[in-house]
Amino acid sequence: MTVQSNPNNARNFSGGPGALPQTVLEQVQQAIVCEPDTGLSILGISHRSDWFAAVLAEVQTNIRQLLGIGAEYHVLMLQGGATQQFSQIPMSFLAGQRQPPDYLCTGYWSRKVLGEAERSARLRVVWSGAAENYRRLPRDEELDFSAEAPYLHYVSNETVEGLQFHRMIGHPAVPRFCDMSSDFLSRPIEAERYAFMYAHAQKNLGPAGVTLVLLRDELLQKIPEDTLPGWLDYRNQVHAHSNYNTPPVFAIYVVLLVTRWLLNDIGGLAAMDAINRRKAETLYRFLDEGDGFYQGRAAVADRSLMNVTFTLRDPNRTADFLAAAQRAGFYGLNGHRAIGGMRASLYNGLTLPAVEGLVDFMHEYRRQAG
Ligand SMILES: *Cc1c(COP(=O)(O)O)cnc(C)c1O
Repeated sequence: MTVQSNPNNARNFSGGPGALPQTVLEQVQQAIVCEPDTGLSILGISHRSDWFAAVLAEVQTNIRQLLGIGAEYHVLMLQGGATQQFSQIPMSFLAGQRQPPDYLCTGYWSRKVLGEAERSARLRVVWSGAAENYRRLPRDEELDFSAEAPYLHYVSNETVEGLQFHRMIGHPAVPRFCDMSSDFLSRPIEAERYAFMYAHAQKNLGPAGVTLVLLRDELLQKIPEDTLPGWLDYRNQVHAHSNYNTPPVFAIYVVLLVTRWLLNDIGGLAAMDAINRRKAETLYRFLDEGDGFYQGRAAVADRSLMNVTFTLRDPNRTADFLAAAQRAGFYGLNGHRAIGGMRASLYNGLTLPAVEGLVDFMHEYRRQAG
């Protein structure tokens, strides 16, 4: 089967790994057999080849161009997923610090972050949404940041609950560290206001196996000397240009294709954001205009443009709804196992027609159920 003959990928609303653009899948399909520049399968190209060095360099260039950042940031492509960063960050940047870092607890992924960070550090939780079951994000007046914290860590988009920050937060004197795994390169950000950004590939950028880490050069001085395993020392990864040991060549190649698609086909992050807003508005408007048959889960002001979470007024229908959706060709709509319900993930690769098709299906399902 060719990419074009499989319509299912176009209606894949999976929370992650997420849908990738059709044109990228076509190039990947070709490259598995014969990558055009080398004439070899992408699965058998050396990570020490000149070709791969050029791939690493171009991914960096493309990401810098998309975000508008310069040489003050290192762009790393690492393994271990976002989860490894949860522990590698406190291991690297807290040596000799007397004050604890600030953390926000805004949902499922924040809890995972905290669980790992607490193993190696004392932290201060500035705000937690646990008592309200993570249905909203904090307002500015609820956030009392420390001016002395070594850093602030938060999650820009809570993938499970469908909550996304639509503003910059933090203390101006404190470096911002942000897990952007589920909304990286989905919209323009003020990148220079972050000290450390990270995102694994498998929501918006490519397949699982590679995690992008962007960190300001001056952070490298805070890493303790010779106590971390070499692989976990960001300085080694910087010096080796993300080629310290065998990197995930295939995953990085797909990220390259996605960044080219963002630059050349979409036209940059502002254009991507405009498309993503239309997709999310289409679905949220449908949820809001109904009679309560479908109910959005997240507070309106904090709704995610990437992950639309909703429930049915009659939760006993959930399994029936999901089965009917799948029969109609809509995949991956089940909510995360931690909270149930439904989640439609609208990552960059998912198109507006797919969202319109989902709304038509949901309309018809409600009519038949009503
Ligand atoms: C999916 C997700 C993760 C998990 O990352 P792994 O690569 O599986 O370790 C972390 N953070 C956020 C915000 C996510 O959405």
